[in-house]
Amino acid sequence: MAHGKNIMVILSSPSGVGKTTLTKKIQQKYQSFKISVSHTTRKPRSNEVNGVDYHFVSHREFEELIQENKFYEYAKIFENYYGTLKKDVDNTILQNDIIFDIDWQGTKQLSKFKNLNLIKIYLITNNKEELKQRLVKRNQNTAEEVEKRFNSFDEDIKHWNDYDYVIINKNLDNCFKQIEHIINVNKNRTFNFFQKTP
Ligand code: 5GP
Repeated sequence: MAHGKNIMVILSSPSGVGKTTLTKKIQQKYQSFKISVSHTTRKPRSNEVNGVDYHFVSHREFEELIQENKFYEYAKIFENYYGTLKKDVDNTILQNDIIFDIDWQGTKQLSKFKNLNLIKIYLITNNKEELKQRLVKRNQNTAEEVEKRFNSFDEDIKHWNDYDYVIINKNLDNCFKQIEHIINVNKNRTFNFFQKTP
């Protein structure tokens, strides 16, 4: 399916860099953007709402969806599945731009679909110590989970090269401005391109 002039922005980063906050800020400021709500087998955190933050499903349900080829992409991260349904993306993109909060594995898989109008942004922190502090401060994970997420940093950043843009999140407002700039440039470019195409 050709997806017209609407764009799909992927934000990836090691866990704890501030991606979820930025994703929400973009959606709040730009009404045209919808956040892609992934399916996951992870258990909900106390502040998470089913259908809003994720669609929380069992391992069995998730594996059925894999068998039925329903995902554009999926990955196993920290022992849980996470994935993006084709149906959700194909319906949303008809009316809206989409923002994805997905990892490097999902980004690689989505990139294979050449009909998708993807803009791939990778966020990193200034240094590793800052990341650790953020993960602890976030207080959403057990000490063991914090350690696991922290240890995945080295593997994760090896994939920054697969992205169109890399931003260092030293300051949330600056980082947000940079993302806004990227969105505006690409939105205009896509719009002009589609205007000129008969
Ligand atoms: P969390 O458990 O902290 O919500 O997310 C863990 C990681 O899973 C994050 O890096 C997030 O970007 C990634 N993630 C969330 N949804 C998806 C998805 O649908 N596909 C993939 N590949 N990664 C996802």
